Amino acid sequence: MIPALPKVLIVGAGAVGLRTAQEALRRGCRVVVRAPFPPLDPRTCSVGAGGLWMPFRCDDVRVDRWALETFQELYELQQTPASDDLVETLPALYLLHESTSTVQDEPPTWTRDPRLLFQILALSEIAKQADIVIPPVEEFQSAGYSHAWLFYPLIVNAPRMLEYLLQQVQQSAADVDVETGEYMESIEHMVDTAKILGCTAVINCTGLGAAQIAGCQSSDDDLTGARGILLQYDRTSCVRRSQVDRSGKQRKDTLIMIDEGPWGSDTMPSYLIPRGDQIVVGGSYLPGDTESSIRLEERKRLLSNAHRLGIDVNQCAPHGEWTGFRPKRSAGVRCEADPTYADGPVKVLHNYGHGGSGWTINVGAAKECLDILLRNKPL
Ligand SMILES: Cc1cc2nc3c(=O)[nH]c(=O)nc-3n(C[C@H](O)[C@H](O)[C@H](O)COP(=O)(O)OP(=O)(O)OC[C@H]3O[C@@H](n4cnc5c(N)ncnc54)[C@H](O)[C@@H]3O)c2cc1C
Repeated sequence: MIPALPKVLIVGAGAVGLRTAQEALRRGCRVVVRAPFPPLDPRTCSVGAGGLWMPFRCDDVRVDRWALETFQELYELQQTPASDDLVETLPALYLLHESTSTVQDEPPTWTRDPRLLFQILALSEIAKQADIVIPPVEEFQSAGYSHAWLFYPLIVNAPRMLEYLLQQVQQSAADVDVETGEYMESIEHMVDTAKILGCTAVINCTGLGAAQIAGCQSSDDDLTGARGILLQYDRTSCVRRSQVDRSGKQRKDTLIMIDEGPWGSDTMPSYLIPRGDQIVVGGSYLPGDTESSIRLEERKRLLSNAHRLGIDVNQCAPHGEWTGFRPKRSAGVRCEADPTYADGPVKVLHNYGHGGSGWTINVGAAKECLDILLRNKPL
């Protein structure tokens, strides 16, 4: 007899929870999704994120594999009419300072995917590339930047993708309530809810919320929020300092990232990401900083980043701003079965702690989580 597939309760409806729910449905499980507020609520980390596909600040040996699985799915989705404005490919520049060793460093293995067209070029060469929009390279050079990675990543339109995933899950006959108004307080709370709903497995996809969730050996002291801030500009109306080439032809938007001085650092990276109908300008990476609004001096720095990276700040103002908290774990993503519940009537799995890479690895992590669940075959 073929063992019955579990009915699974997914707790959390961000990039990870919704993609995990979709994966469970694809494997034939019945699925229930619960979250206290809808995915587009700004408290959901996934909604404000840059959406850039690039492994970033997520120390886990599985990241490259998960990232490539995610890239593959996004790449295929982009080829379909359904993709609409869900995902796009743009040129990206990651600036390198001539005094640092990164120019000579071996780039990470994910850069080898031929679809990324990855190369390291001197800025003088970059200026000659036909399809990019950047401020005059002399400005970068005078700040000491000499080279850049040039590659063509995918960029997820995060709010649209959340809507799309939610819709996909709802259409697949899952029982979905993402406005319960109720935070699960403990793993036992999740298990009790699962029992009431007739589920035999729970997958905890609560992102940073998992730090507050207590339970038998389950509260996670290793999980902290790495605070990120950004300004949002309207992509259509926002005036760029270099939008047309010498022949007057409109060129493609270009994503720019810097985490080397003087314009960036590990904790204060500078970036500009065109994403959907917005351009987002960041940023920060501040573990343990819990401030939910943008401080005055931070706002000044973001405006200065916007100018440096190509927005004409005298002619356009941001239409919004956002502070988010990346779910960071020094021990890597928690994607595993919880041994405490191995012999109980409801199995518990975790899938949280994706740091600065949730949109980059959510597909791979969801697949692995379901592999673990179905290998353990809870009834
Ligand atoms: C400024 C910034 C920029 C970023 N840019 C990028 C990028 O360019 N590319 C990239 O790949 N990643 C990026 N990230 C990282 C990415 O946003 C996260 O890794 C990802 O959003 C984590 O997704 P998640 O589903 O685990 O968490 P969330 O999106 O926060 O979802 C958690 C879900 O759990 C629910 N929940 C929480 N607590 C409870 C509870 N107690 N009970 C029940 N439900 C609960 C929430 O309501 C929510 O539905 C960025 C993050 C920030 C802050």
